[in-house]
Amino acid sequence: MLPSVALVGRPNVGKSTLFNALTRSRDALVHDEPGVTRDRHYGVCRPDGQRAFVVVDTGGIAGEDQGLAGATARQARAAAEEADLVLFVVDGREGVSALDEEILAWLRKSGRPMLLVVNKTDGLDSRAALAEFARFGVADAHAVSASHRQGIGSLLEEIQGRL
Ligand code: GDP
Ligand code: MG
Repeated sequence: MLPSVALVGRPNVGKSTLFNALTRSRDALVHDEPGVTRDRHYGVCRPDGQRAFVVVDTGGIAGEDQGLAGATARQARAAAEEADLVLFVVDGREGVSALDEEILAWLRKSGRPMLLVVNKTDGLDSRAALAEFARFGVADAHAVSASHRQGIGSLLEEIQGRL
């Protein structure tokens, strides 16, 4: 069985765009409206000469426990719990949000191995973008631009080292 990596984060941070960059597919729904990916979505990343792994895209965790958003969040949590590694995706343009802090607290409680992925750093100073999230205290943090495919190679190396 292939190892699995789950993409978790609040809506609109670029999880589905990262899914596409990793799986080189247009499978995941990318949309400006939050919450477009409501179910778990599976793809396979096959990096050249490296170990293949399953990528699990999830709907955003929007903070509400009721209704559709709640169901989506429960799916995301289930995906994270089943994954060998969680990529906690945040938005480098918007900086830290209260919802990020909530998700981080939950991920810490789940005890799953985790990498922090600071996305949307195209046109930004990636060191400054990472510094914004330093207070999360996640040792392994990567600045990427999923839409511009920047930083994906070094993220893949880190993932390989953790699987
Ligand atoms: P999700 O809700 O977390 O799955 O986010 P999406 O992948 O659907 O992306 C939400 C929005 O952010 C879309 O308009 C994307 O085009 C945009 N986006 C995603 N990744 C990047 C990135 O690396 N840079 C920029 N500038 N925009 C991005
Ligand atoms: Mg999505």
